[in-house]
Amino acid sequence: SQNRIIARGKEVGVVASGMTFQYAMEEFKEASILKLGLSYPFPDDLIREFAHNYQELIVIEELDNFLEEHIRSLGIKTKGRDFFPGIGELNPDKVAQGHDRIENSSVLLVEKKVDKEATLLPARPPVFCAGCPSRGLFYALSQIDCVVSGDIGCYSLGVFPPYERLDTILCMGAGITVAQGMDKAGFRDKPLIGIVGDSTFFHAGMTGLLEISYNKGISTIVIVDNRATAMTGLQDHPGTGRTLMKKRTHTAYPEDFAR
Ligand code: SF4
Repeated sequence: SQNRIIARGKEVGVVASGMTFQYAMEEFKEASILKLGLSYPFPDDLIREFAHNYQELIVIEELDNFLEEHIRSLGIKTKGRDFFPGIGELNPDKVAQGHDRIENSSVLLVEKKVDKEATLLPARPPVFCAGCPSRGLFYALSQIDCVVSGDIGCYSLGVFPPYERLDTILCMGAGITVAQGMDKAGFRDKPLIGIVGDSTFFHAGMTGLLEISYNKGISTIVIVDNRATAMTGLQDHPGTGRTLMKKRTHTAYPEDFAR
């Protein structure tokens, strides 16, 4: 099963998923951990069984308290969002501070986890893979005085050095619709270029392209089509020719929608 229990202490149980599992392992060394590798559908029986064994159940999750709300709906008392912030990413410091607050009921925000030597390590921001064709695209765009709107995918990396060639990044599909929005708002100072990947195009970009066609937009849209959902794990999409269950199906081509 993707869900497993790391049995350690007998008093405190911690439910965590994804990155927060690592934080829980590091910070709650005396606690047992229920690691949810497949959090939905909720493994209710496993959660009940786990909670039953501990006096205190702590839930650590980023952003919305999705797991905690569900666990509480099972009638189980938890400590979670009141102690760990729901805005931004968690990190070892924030989890340690939440742990302090649970144990001491204090609101002291003591930075204590970041190893001083770690701050001396060179930063390694995400970059395009070596040989990625997007490198050439963003280099070319960096030579043009234009406004480039992007959205979510590998091509978001164009915002970082050395290219720094995305002016906007918003939700999926916004590479197209922001360009169209600026066009319709009357922006004429520079050419408008929208970037979208194939997976994002099929997910949320097609309607934006239709809108440009329908309302006679003048922006230029570039679809970076690598036939893959590259950034998030190679999930299939309508352009890969396979269903999500890996069965053969029709292959959609972005250019067919653009004609
Ligand atoms: S995974 Fe993303 S960054 Fe790497 S080669 Fe593919 S599109 Fe480029």
